[in-house]
Amino acid sequence: MEKQTQCVHSGNMIDELTGGVNTPIHTSSVFKYVDSGKQQYPRYYNTPNQEAVVKKLCALEGAEDGLLFSSGMAAISTAIFGLINGGDHVILQDEIYGGTHAFVTNQFDKFGIEYSFTERSVTSIEKLIRNNTKLIYVETPTNPLLSLVDLKQVAVLAKDNDILTIVDNTFASPINQNPIALGIDVVCHSGTKYLGGHSDLCCGAVVSRKEIIEELWTTASDLGGNMNGQTCALLERSMKTLELRVTRQTENGFGLAQKLDEMASIKKVYYPGLEGHPDHDVARKQMHGFGAMIGFELTEDGPDIITFMKRLNLITPALSLGGIESTICAPVLTSHKKMSSEERARVGVSDQLLRFSVGIEHVDDLIYDIKQAIAG
Ligand code: PLP
Repeated sequence: MEKQTQCVHSGNMIDELTGGVNTPIHTSSVFKYVDSGKQQYPRYYNTPNQEAVVKKLCALEGAEDGLLFSSGMAAISTAIFGLINGGDHVILQDEIYGGTHAFVTNQFDKFGIEYSFTERSVTSIEKLIRNNTKLIYVETPTNPLLSLVDLKQVAVLAKDNDILTIVDNTFASPINQNPIALGIDVVCHSGTKYLGGHSDLCCGAVVSRKEIIEELWTTASDLGGNMNGQTCALLERSMKTLELRVTRQTENGFGLAQKLDEMASIKKVYYPGLEGHPDHDVARKQMHGFGAMIGFELTEDGPDIITFMKRLNLITPALSLGGIESTICAPVLTSHKKMSSEERARVGVSDQLLRFSVGIEHVDDLIYDIKQAIAG
């Protein structure tokens, strides 16, 4: 089935009692098991609404099985802790989501887990491989500069060295990128972003091969970061329009990136779909669409970023991303706030950089809003 069809139909459980076309919401946390033998429980990740969403996401990602969590960070932390032991070594790309970076630096030492951060090239990753390296963790496209990691190359390197790989696929969504088809072992999502898509859910997911999910299940159950039935039902409903939303958002992203690139008041645009982007060739190879996240820098002779954001009427200054409404944030005030200005300069995050999550509005309205905010 094509993705449009998978979004609508995969995993659906027709209501046998009434013929209703939607998966019924099962509110129970207690399930009778005497006759069936199956022990269902939300923290066992096997309730009907959890299973319906997992099937839909697995169809979209080309995965065999998965687990749903109460946040993206619950998914990521469980996936990492579930696959490694104290004494193991993990290699992570340095341009990852700030919360994941914090998880590693706050938690790994406590459990004797070794780790190395590196820039995203495969040669840099390769140099860090040790005898005890068990996991390579990457994110692509990255936040906020929209750089790409070549997933096929990472997968080959990892397999040659008997190392597992995890990719945070949040920015691309399953519509624009499918890492498992490129040889990656595990895919994580912050479902709070594109999967939910309406800025009203907090959730996460991990999908992979059956044996890996079975291995992760024990840690997932021990840590207990599962999603509840009602949230699963909302997520299932949202995912029925995932392809529609992300396709429109991606079209908008492409159109806006081109228009921003032509504007004299914009110094630089970071978008993998632009030919001038350093990773454009990798994007063409591994993404189905270039996505709806754009980085751009205002010129110094225009408004500063705070004045610019205050003047916006349509685009909302906000932290998160992936919703149907366009949102914008300044990394210098959010994800990169704690870094010194030297560190920020080293990673390429300037004081005039903005990260734009493009929604489903009309491109002309969005451009109008940006232009009037620059003009003042
Ligand atoms: N991964 C990425 C790329 C994110 O942007 C975020 C949140 O912003 C997360 C993971 C964490 O997700 P959550 O906030 O749902 O825990």
